[in-house]
Amino acid sequence: MKIVFSELEEWEKSIVKDRLLGNELVFIDKPLREEDIEQYMDADIISIFVDSKINRSMISRMPNLKFIATRSTGYDHIDLEACKEYGIVVSNVPRYGENTVAEHAFALLLAIAKNLLQSIRKVEHGEFNPKGLRGIDLKGKTLGVIGTGNIGKNMIRIAKGFGMNVIAYDIHPDLEAASTMGYKYVEFEELLRNSDIISIHVPLLESTRHMINKQNLNLLKRGVIIINTARGGVIDTEALLIGLDKGIISAAGLDVLEGEQEIKEEPQLLKEGFRKKIDYKLLAMDYMLIHHPRVIVTPHNAFNTAEALQRILFTTIDNIKSFIEGRPINRVI
Ligand code: NAD
Repeated sequence: MKIVFSELEEWEKSIVKDRLLGNELVFIDKPLREEDIEQYMDADIISIFVDSKINRSMISRMPNLKFIATRSTGYDHIDLEACKEYGIVVSNVPRYGENTVAEHAFALLLAIAKNLLQSIRKVEHGEFNPKGLRGIDLKGKTLGVIGTGNIGKNMIRIAKGFGMNVIAYDIHPDLEAASTMGYKYVEFEELLRNSDIISIHVPLLESTRHMINKQNLNLLKRGVIIINTARGGVIDTEALLIGLDKGIISAAGLDVLEGEQEIKEEPQLLKEGFRKKIDYKLLAMDYMLIHHPRVIVTPHNAFNTAEALQRILFTTIDNIKSFIEGRPINRVI
């Protein structure tokens, strides 16, 4: 099989070469893009990360493609409808980072609650005093968790350790977990009304796109802190900015942005010219969030720990081997 991997680090390449011996392996050091398709159009299998947006046109131009192994939990970067039509199997890594991503979400929350960034900057500027740095306690606050799957449950576990009260919303509530872990499911609007902090852990689907939006912004408890480590598109970026502006949202900690792809690719786009269609309004709003004094942004980094990357790589290798052996595992479709 010709297997094309995008964006692997050197240590990953040597493990892949060792474990997938006998296959033709191609390593491309950047995300797979439509304009570079000549390099990978005869691939039988591609293994990608979230920055490779695999659209219908790319799929139609890869006649041998049989399997996509995404090295992520989310798969909103792949046109699944097109894959179905072309008979392409897609697998993901469903459980590599349930603690990893929740730890990052909590790190964002702690950084906001304790004014960590401002504190560090102040000391670096030679001002060793706590003036203007007052934070808040987390103990006793109500955390609203949207999506209680693998990551959401780990967020709840950590929050309980901090003495927080937890409410949650999920289309598939896990009542057993709620009773053993000590949290309560509520309706979505009730969660918006009663949470001091909201942390988002749903996949980006049509049903979750802009779950927090201009229509329900006014339901939010005044002063709420929003943490998003899921996907940028779950929140309407404009609503987020309006909420911050009106003081409805006191602060936000974001690992994901709705137009993050363009921001990531900006240096390259500037060098090569803007050949693709760009949503400039969204891009401008993202930069407003990045520079907002009450928003902290990390660069889609929540997954990025040594332990999680090992788990991702070994599961992806298992996914590929199982597909080649005719018994695909971790199938999305
Ligand atoms: P999961 O599948 O275990 O849990 C998702 C939960 O969302 C499920 O319980 C599901 O019932 C619920 N859900 C789905 N649609 C819903 C809807 N319309 N309304 C309410 N609830 C709904 O997934 P997970 O492992 O917890 O990951 C969650 C998301 O986190 C992923 O889809 C991915 O987008 C994101 N993620 C981000 C990073 C990062 O580095 N920032 C890393 C891994 C995952």
